[in-house]
Amino acid sequence: MTKTLHIIGGGMAGSEAAWQAAQMGVPVVIHEMRPKVETFAHQTGNFGEMVCSNSFRSDDHEQNAVGLLHWEMRAAGGLIISTAYDHRLPAGGALAVDRDPFAESVTKALMDHPLISASYEEITELPDDGHWIIATGPLTSQGLGQAIANETGAESLAFFDAIAPIVYAESIDMSKAWMQSRYDKGETEEERKAYLNCPMDKDTYEAFIDALLAADKTEFHEGETAGYFDGCLPIEVMAERGRETLRHGPMKPVGLTNPHAPEEKAHAVVQLRRDNALGTLFNIVGFQTKMKYGAQIDVFRMIPGLENARFARLGGIHRNTFINSPTLLDAQMRLKSRPNIRFAGQITGVEGYVESASMGLLAGRMAAAEILGVELPVVPQDSAHGALVHHITGGAEAKTFQPMNVNFGLFRPLEEKVKGGRRGRKDRYKLYTDRAKAVWTEWLEQAPQKEAAE
Ligand SMILES: Cc1cc2nc3c(=O)[nH]c(=O)nc-3n(C[C@H](O)[C@H](O)[C@H](O)COP(=O)(O)OP(=O)(O)OC[C@H]3O[C@@H](n4cnc5c(N)ncnc54)[C@H](O)[C@@H]3O)c2cc1C
Repeated sequence: MTKTLHIIGGGMAGSEAAWQAAQMGVPVVIHEMRPKVETFAHQTGNFGEMVCSNSFRSDDHEQNAVGLLHWEMRAAGGLIISTAYDHRLPAGGALAVDRDPFAESVTKALMDHPLISASYEEITELPDDGHWIIATGPLTSQGLGQAIANETGAESLAFFDAIAPIVYAESIDMSKAWMQSRYDKGETEEERKAYLNCPMDKDTYEAFIDALLAADKTEFHEGETAGYFDGCLPIEVMAERGRETLRHGPMKPVGLTNPHAPEEKAHAVVQLRRDNALGTLFNIVGFQTKMKYGAQIDVFRMIPGLENARFARLGGIHRNTFINSPTLLDAQMRLKSRPNIRFAGQITGVEGYVESASMGLLAGRMAAAEILGVELPVVPQDSAHGALVHHITGGAEAKTFQPMNVNFGLFRPLEEKVKGGRRGRKDRYKLYTDRAKAVWTEWLEQAPQKEAAE
């Protein structure tokens, strides 16, 4: 008899993982604590509940990386995405859904599946044997969170994210910015040039502080109060503590010489650090923030060199349980120290309904292939799923790892040369999405089918 796959958590990731594994012929038990144990955000006992917005974001599969994930999930027979289309609401280019019928349909599809059953209980220990996927999301219960921390070490499990904005490298004006580590520290040339610096004169700094103080901020959700610790205060909170605080903190102008104006001493310097091995993304160091997204764009574009910055993701601070996947997981999403356990969804350090469901899709297929003893070809890195899983299981900088949305900065650069500007960007995104669709389709064709596995 085929062994059972156990999935903890019936949210976006757990539901999709269960569906994919069952479709491959593997029996699945979903262990879900709701409705017996509630979270502060969920309202029902349904699987696949959307806890906040009712949007799966852009559905443009030619020009948008999230839309491309939609496309790939559809091609893979994804339950979450197909149910979302069944309950689609008019929302321009976005995929908005009617949330209650959506979650009810996900629940019904799972419970009607002959290979899927549910066990309504909170799991508080890591299982010693059997095949498991932990997909307990940003609001993982305290008991299980503790068990994970005991296994991984407390420093590898976060309960809040502190996301600094991430900028596409190509959109930074290098006629103003330069690469240099403070005091040229580092053994290698690469280390001595690990940071990208944006200088500010006094007037620009003062205007920047005014803008920070005046910007619209997001409130914490009820039950989400952040235990700020001094290492990760939002920049606007630092600015509220005193106009000079940032200049003596993340924006201190010391140990740096601007090669564009070697005689001038900057009043403050904003530093950005490489965020992925590809070098396509840079995060603004120490700039975690609760400013509203629109305000962030306006304020951060005041930084010299970032006037035309495009953001792969904006900053935020949320209640969010996630592990340091780049150090803890192997390429198959297994916990290296306990390979009978996989992780999927937001707890792996992706962010959003769509990304979480897509990591469930991969984990479900990987676990099912392992149970069936069949080979699952490596997920192609040039697909949206591949770019994302590659990022969390190795491509991201482990030391500064924070949750990530899917975006084109995670994709390997194209071999083709594409002209710059908006037109060039459109052409480039189309080439990315064409390439992704081709490799994803090929991967799906090679993937073990249910009949082949039996
Ligand atoms: C307050 C809040 C607002 C958000 N708003 C948005 C948004 O607007 N748009 C967006 O794209 N993303 C949003 N997110 C992120 C969102 O949660 C994720 O994108 C998505 O739901 C994560 O999917 P998941 O499957 O990883 O986790 P979830 O969907 O949260 O599923 C995890 C499941 O595990 C269960 N569980 C937890 N611990 C245990 C346990 N020990 N035993 C058994 N079951 C357990 C939970 O009850 C839950 O059903 C928000 C998150 C939060 C916390």
